[in-house]
This record gives sequence, C-alpha cells and structure tokens, in this order.
Amino acid sequence: MLQAQGQLRYRGRCADCSWIGRPFIRYSTADAAARDHSDAQRHTAFVVDQYDMRIVGSTVRPDRAGRA
Ligand SMILES: [Zn+2]
Repeated sequence: MLQAQGQLRYRGRCADCSWIGRPFIRYSTADAAARDHSDAQRHTAFVVDQYDMRIVGSTVRPDRAGRA
C-alpha cells in the first residue's frame, strides 16, 4: 500500500457510533458510504479528510435519507 501514501483520502465517520468507513480517493465515494451508513443505521454521518478533519457540508442526517 506504499503507493497510497501521500494521496488525498476521504472516509466516512459517524457522530452516533464509532463507525469509520473505508478510505477512498474520491470524496463522492466516501460520501456515498456515509449515506449508506446513515440510511442503514439512522445515524448522523459525515466525511473526514486524511487528517481526520470533518469536511464542511458533508454531514448526512438520517431525516434526509428518504430522498429518491
Ligand atoms: Zn453510526
């Protein structure tokens, strides 16, 4: 996994449990994983960057999960 070091990575995290998503290169993929967790667990999830800093605007709340 040496080639993965130094690359920008995103992953989902949860505000309601200790769930941490797999790291993804693409923000959109990490965001989709966070939405999956929010949908499945009815938890508030969000996306962090490689420094574990929350991405502003990435929060996914379960009451928004009913979208088509
Ligand atoms: Zn959770």
